[in-house]
Amino acid sequence: MDKTAHKPFNQPLSGLITPRFAGIATFMRLPHVPLGKAKGIEIGLIGVPFDGGTTNRPGPRHGPRQIRDMSQMIRRVNPAMKICPYDLANIADLGDADVNPADLKDSMKRIERFYSKVVGLGIRPMSAGGDHLVSYPILKAVGQKEPVGMVHFDAHTDLFDSYFGGYKITHGTPFRRAIEDGVLDPKRTIQIGIRGSMYDYEDRDFAEKVGVRIIEIEEFAKLGVEKTIELARGIVGSGPTYVSFDIDALDPAYAPGTGTPEVGGFTNREAVFMLRLLRGLNIVGADVVEVSPPFDPTGYTAFNAANVMWELLCIMSENVAERRSR
Ligand code: MN
Ligand code: MN
Repeated sequence: MDKTAHKPFNQPLSGLITPRFAGIATFMRLPHVPLGKAKGIEIGLIGVPFDGGTTNRPGPRHGPRQIRDMSQMIRRVNPAMKICPYDLANIADLGDADVNPADLKDSMKRIERFYSKVVGLGIRPMSAGGDHLVSYPILKAVGQKEPVGMVHFDAHTDLFDSYFGGYKITHGTPFRRAIEDGVLDPKRTIQIGIRGSMYDYEDRDFAEKVGVRIIEIEEFAKLGVEKTIELARGIVGSGPTYVSFDIDALDPAYAPGTGTPEVGGFTNREAVFMLRLLRGLNIVGADVVEVSPPFDPTGYTAFNAANVMWELLCIMSENVAERRSR
């Protein structure tokens, strides 16, 4: 299959020719294509090195680099899905979104501007954060024309109103803001893996009020992988859907490199199996966020994040190919 495959699209640097530890690190060893030259790209892998929305332990500004490095471990064929995403869609590393580490609000504008260009070019973004606040400006671009649904894996709902006395733009508030802005459809949103101690029930009350479905980890334990995703598919339906994966959805045993760990999370196998069951959904964008390399110098947290990107990339490429042939 590998040798005879028709390859009109960008291909990752082959580990059979250039050893995987060699060369310049890009996501999945794909070519780096700057946004100005990205016409014809269908899925863009993008870093968002910003962690100014972090309320506790920082570090995800360093996430994209470590995830790029660890993504070298991933080869080109997904044997579980029996596909090679690079034969199905034209994919590239579009580099990092523009950020300003000294100004949170300016960063929100810069990230949104970058993603508006991406969406304007017809590119579906697959992003690596950054803290979870980066999903907010991304959603503003992706949901600009039509609000999107969302499958959200996280230990936290990120539906809080404000922190530190009325401050509304943090990594605990992005989805509340996105719902208020009308770019995220709460009735087509499901949050999976929620757990951990809380300050209060404010986020749960908001979720109930607007119709966000929350699957806490206890419910997941009862339902299992397949029934959980069956529920998720029913909620998001066939409309445009965003997938957001906070790496703290995984148990800290698998993902110690994150700022707000909570005990009792998913194994990485459960996470991968859940992601594969999203196959066929109309995923118009996705992200993996909250990888904080300073808390995990082994890179294993980033390796898990790279694998989340890989599984979603496979699903998105299949979806792009299917729509192109219509
Ligand atoms: Mn989060
Ligand atoms: Mn979280």
